[in-house]
Amino acid sequence: MILIDGKKAAAELRAELKEEVAELKSKHNKVPGLTVILIGDLTPSQIYVRNKEKSANEVGLKSEVIKYSDSVEEKTVLEKIQELNSDETVSGILVQLPLPKHIDKQKVIEAIDPSKDVDGFHPMNVGNLSSGYESSIPCTPLGCYLLIKKIEPNLSGKKAVVVGRSNLNGKPMTQLLLKENCTVTITHSKTKDLKAECLEADIIVAAVGIPELVRGDWVKKDAIVIDVGINKTDNGIVGDVHFDEVSKNAKALTPVPGGVGPMTIACLLKNTIDCFKRSQI
Ligand code: NAD
Repeated sequence: MILIDGKKAAAELRAELKEEVAELKSKHNKVPGLTVILIGDLTPSQIYVRNKEKSANEVGLKSEVIKYSDSVEEKTVLEKIQELNSDETVSGILVQLPLPKHIDKQKVIEAIDPSKDVDGFHPMNVGNLSSGYESSIPCTPLGCYLLIKKIEPNLSGKKAVVVGRSNLNGKPMTQLLLKENCTVTITHSKTKDLKAECLEADIIVAAVGIPELVRGDWVKKDAIVIDVGINKTDNGIVGDVHFDEVSKNAKALTPVPGGVGPMTIACLLKNTIDCFKRSQI
């Protein structure tokens, strides 16, 4: 079984991006800039943002974090986004989710200029992705896609099952696999026989949030299995896939931690650079 090393793949991607930033700098005399807005003091969000800033600096991006307290008015955040939209030194804007209840998430997402939407959540980018046009692609499914392509460069005609239909993971993952000519089944909490669906799959992407949901006898021999889940349990962090069981059947499997997670931030950097490149045309 191939253990898909997301840490290594992310380090390789960051190294490529670092070179690309250096080339862009010598060509344009400026570097792509990523601005992250962080609202409130939720510890996981603070850790994510710190890691994003650290990685952005590492590849040579201009990086900025704007912090607001939990009680910030929605209007203040929307005005700041408008300011960043017209700031030429800002290539990418990310508002760290979740937001406090009094702030309308959709309003915030739609306020971001789609050409600077490095999360790929703006309806314009969602529509472009599903229409097969150029767009920012949500970072986690983009990371999964790059890992799958490393194992199997030609996905045409493969059967893929995506478990979970969130806007963040399942839906964009489905679009990416469709674009590669996979036959894709998207499953969710109301799917009648999830095991039977998974048993059909050459590729399984699990993004559910239920510890070890996908069992060994759900997986066809030689399937590629990508585990997006991050679940805190009494035994530590586990994914949505039962690692020990599935590793006996699968051709390739991502571990948790050390699989999809590290690719997510590397893909955020990639999206920022891609937004910059599109703005220079
Ligand atoms: P979500 O809660 O928004 O969506 C979960 C999806 O799973 C829903 O579509 C739901 O229909 C489906 N589902 C629920 N129960 C099911 C069942 N029994 N069978 C089949 N489908 C079922 O979750 P999300 O935001 O997509 O996150 C999923 C997981 O991925 C979580 O563990 C989250 O922590 C993790 N995550 C990891 C990364 C990363 O970088 N690795 C990034 C984002 C999210």
